[in-house]
Amino acid sequence: MNLVVQKFGGTSVKDAERIFNVARIITETYQKGNNVVAVVSAQGDTTDDLIAKAEEINPNASKREMDVLLTTGEQISMSLLAMAIEKMGFPVISLTGWQAGFLSDSTHGAARIRRINKERIDHELTKRNIVIVAGFQAINRYDDLTTLGRGGSDTSAVALAAVLHADLCQIFTDVDGVYTADPRFVKTARKMDEITYDEMLELASLGAGVLHNRSVEMAKKYNVNLEVLSSLTKNPGTKIKEVVKLEKMLVRGVARDNDVVRISIVGVPDQPGFAFKIFSQLAAKKVNVDIILQSIGRDGTKDISFTVSRSHKDLAVSLMEEINDRLGGKGILCDENISKVSIVGAGMQTNPGVASKMFEALAEANINIQMISTSEIKISVLVALADSDKAVNAIHDAFDL
Ligand code: ADP
Ligand code: ASP
Ligand code: MG
Repeated sequence: MNLVVQKFGGTSVKDAERIFNVARIITETYQKGNNVVAVVSAQGDTTDDLIAKAEEINPNASKREMDVLLTTGEQISMSLLAMAIEKMGFPVISLTGWQAGFLSDSTHGAARIRRINKERIDHELTKRNIVIVAGFQAINRYDDLTTLGRGGSDTSAVALAAVLHADLCQIFTDVDGVYTADPRFVKTARKMDEITYDEMLELASLGAGVLHNRSVEMAKKYNVNLEVLSSLTKNPGTKIKEVVKLEKMLVRGVARDNDVVRISIVGVPDQPGFAFKIFSQLAAKKVNVDIILQSIGRDGTKDISFTVSRSHKDLAVSLMEEINDRLGGKGILCDENISKVSIVGAGMQTNPGVASKMFEALAEANINIQMISTSEIKISVLVALADSDKAVNAIHDAFDL
């Protein structure tokens, strides 16, 4: 008997009608003779609403209590979905993350799955029950509730597919699959039939929110047969796998990430060991630094700029102020109105024309590039937030995606 893991995101379960729609997808899969484990997210904007409720009470609430609150969203969806499936006359049971055996580390709000004890799920599947599991949540070794980071239900689903050796892991969402850019604001974006784990991992890490990046990392590691498709249409989705049919396409897709802040420390002494001072301080406080730019020394001083996510802004600025005061620098600049726009494609590593084509597209759209960063399969540029949509569309057009 085949085992299929199906994951349904917030929009797919947002109200009673959508829940019955999902119940139909699950029971049809079950009736074809498959075992089904379904992972659900919180309904619609529930997670955002819960965060807003917490802010009203205590904007500095502990991460532990935030996790206690946020896990309730998924518990609502899982029970409602199980009730719908019961009503349709199928054997079903819903399980919270801990009931389903999810154990994580203790990083509240961004926990990593350590292991999954699969006895309970195996037992339910042997009884031919449909199993509904709350995504996004686990417990740590002290039995405290944890969450896996925004969008983390994808990772719950892929992790389950890996430990249960599922034949297929389907991520159902509100778009037909993975597109060459976010179809919400690039009207000419095209759905891809397939994409490699590596390319998908870059796209997800660079801001394409359609899949949680850790879910892709895990799918690659355990060779999970992964597919993204719509819960609202019957269109074929996008398959994510190790190798795909060779296409002439050098660039696969365009992604953007607005969760970036640029911090600069200006006019510090141009001496050895300075970059080390800055970045070791940031690392010690677990601040992830992305793009780094250092100016060449002039009159014995230099500037260093780097980007961090918004949540790390305050901490990074205060660390830099301390260093600036200590070394007699000329001060700190912080720009929050920026956006990182990236292109991704395995084909670009052997093709020197890709970068210049990207920069040409931006030049023609009169968009200033503030910083650039490249790797074998991606190029990222920092632009003004106000130019972000225009930049994505200009680049998407230039590469004829
Ligand atoms: P879910 O609630 O199902 O997890 P998400 O909102 O997390 O759904 O992810 C789906 C959304 O991802 C789409 O509505 C789309 O706007 C966005 N998205 C961003 N980049 C892409 C892309 N390259 N392809 C498809 N969707 C994308
Ligand atoms: N409900 C969680 C969130 O909104 C997890 C998820 O949707 O995957 O981030
Ligand atoms: Mg999601």
